[in-house]
Amino acid sequence: MGNNLEFAGKVALVTGGNSGIGAAAARRVAELGAQVVVTGRRQSEGRLLVNDIKRNSGSAAFIQADLSQPEQVKRIVPFTLETFGRLDYAFNNAGISGENRLLTDQTEKTFDHVFAVNVKALFLLLQDEVKQMMAQGHGGSIVNTASVGGLLAFPTAGPYVASKHAVLGLTKTAAIECGRYGIRVNAVSPGAVRTEMLLDVFGTQEALDEMSAVHPIGRIGRPEEIADAVAWLFSDRSSYYTGQSLTLDGGLTAQRPYLTQPASDKLIQNTRDEKWASGY
Ligand code: NAD
Repeated sequence: MGNNLEFAGKVALVTGGNSGIGAAAARRVAELGAQVVVTGRRQSEGRLLVNDIKRNSGSAAFIQADLSQPEQVKRIVPFTLETFGRLDYAFNNAGISGENRLLTDQTEKTFDHVFAVNVKALFLLLQDEVKQMMAQGHGGSIVNTASVGGLLAFPTAGPYVASKHAVLGLTKTAAIECGRYGIRVNAVSPGAVRTEMLLDVFGTQEALDEMSAVHPIGRIGRPEEIADAVAWLFSDRSSYYTGQSLTLDGGLTAQRPYLTQPASDKLIQNTRDEKWASGY
């Protein structure tokens, strides 16, 4: 997909746009021709990204905001309107993983912080985005970043898992309330994607290799693979798709728990070897 007429003149907001999935999505929709507002905490990285988009003939602006602070969240949509005059697409993507601990060892402070960024900020943004899209009267498309952790629990990530389930709840509620205004609201639910967050959580290359092995596709995802899905969800090509979670996880959630994997992996490998040996 190169520059696309459908995206020309449209304005997209991307939170957590400084790095990882958000940065890839900001680049992708700018490449397609939308004007992009990027938000993040780190001004220097935001500016670098915006300059890079501009060098590639795109149009972008940055607003610094700490999403754990509601008054800063409330500045984002007004900034978008002051800068580009409208809002057509929003990717509410910023998120944090919290501390890796059993539920009994999680602190109230971590819980509150994870919910402030992953849920409350997203809720406040959704309100402003929907109101603006309704006022414009031409519909719109909003995508929230959930996670496979919004579909299934995994140990030591209680607040994160709960927050991503909440993201899906907000996504569905917004979708059913906004459908009649032509505003579609969906979520993307990535499996493991190689970003700063994943490196922070898993730390070592060895842990990442193990992570790759449990994804049936045999590897961790790339931010650009999520960004392409976001571009599709923004576009009219997904016009009958709303209130859904699009899982992008290399098959992770299609399988039974991976404790059974080594035996079945061996079987699959043996079958493949036999077929190749027999020239199948
Ligand atoms: P990342 O760390 O590169 O990006 C997270 C972004 O959120 C960063 O730009 C960060 O600055 C921003 N952010 C965090 N706290 C913030 C705050 N208080 N105020 C403003 N911005 C804040 O990691 P990523 O993997 O690109 O994460 C993006 C989203 O994808 C997150 O919601 C994450 O939960 C989700 N996700 C990631 C994975 C993965 O494996 N990487 C898997 C599933 C879901």
